[in-house]
Amino acid sequence: MSTPVVEFDVITLFPGMLTGFFSESMIGRARTAGLIRAEAHNLRDFTTDRWHITDDRPFGGGAGMVMKPEPLARAIDSLRRPGTTVIYLTPDGEPFSTPLAREFAQIPHLLMVSGHYEGIDERIRETRIDREVSIGDYVLTNGTLAAAVLIDAISRQVPGVLGEEKSLTQDSFHHSLLGFPQYTRPVEFEGRAVPEVLLSGNHGEIERWRHSRQLEKTRQRRPDILSKTIQPS
Ligand code: SAM
Repeated sequence: MSTPVVEFDVITLFPGMLTGFFSESMIGRARTAGLIRAEAHNLRDFTTDRWHITDDRPFGGGAGMVMKPEPLARAIDSLRRPGTTVIYLTPDGEPFSTPLAREFAQIPHLLMVSGHYEGIDERIRETRIDREVSIGDYVLTNGTLAAAVLIDAISRQVPGVLGEEKSLTQDSFHHSLLGFPQYTRPVEFEGRAVPEVLLSGNHGEIERWRHSRQLEKTRQRRPDILSKTIQPS
């Protein structure tokens, strides 16, 4: 089998959360086809004490626990190699986006660190993390689902994963526009007909109609991204 285009390793306290995600749907197919490699690693396997402790109380007091630096350092050091980008999933990180997914899809090995409790010891962030990424302005109980979100969106950018690459250019956020409305058979459903133009076979007209729907929806729902919009040639 050929070398995967992107390899993902996830350091987590909950590897079981990724079992279904790694084997189902397009990610499962992409792994089977050898286009990507994705593996979860249990942080407890990198502890050296008999109780496999991964957290401790925060210096300075306060609520919750903090993930200890030693097991994380051991895990990262044993899984990274030259050229690896180490990503920490964190709500105070850089917001995740399609441009970031495209950028990460060019990196052959992504090592993702999922936090738990109040997060990880700051010294790991200073010494071993290359990028910090957030999947949105809300707080999850741990970073494993956030890692899955990144893996999913990045894998879609890997040639061959979607099957039909044109899908990518039709997605929301391509050229900073939201997606256009989609219809399939029947032509009429509960008294609502498919827009006439889509049945016309006139590809130029269809393209113009879709673009105008995209502009309208983006103007209504996401005026913040509209300024970045690229007009189709
Ligand atoms: N005390 C941290 C803060 O306020 O930034 C939140 C810790 S959160 C309860 C536990 C872990 O979940 C984090 O270390 C991070 O790995 C993950 N996490 C939570 N929300 C996230 C988000 N929006 N994006 C990415 N990771 C997130």
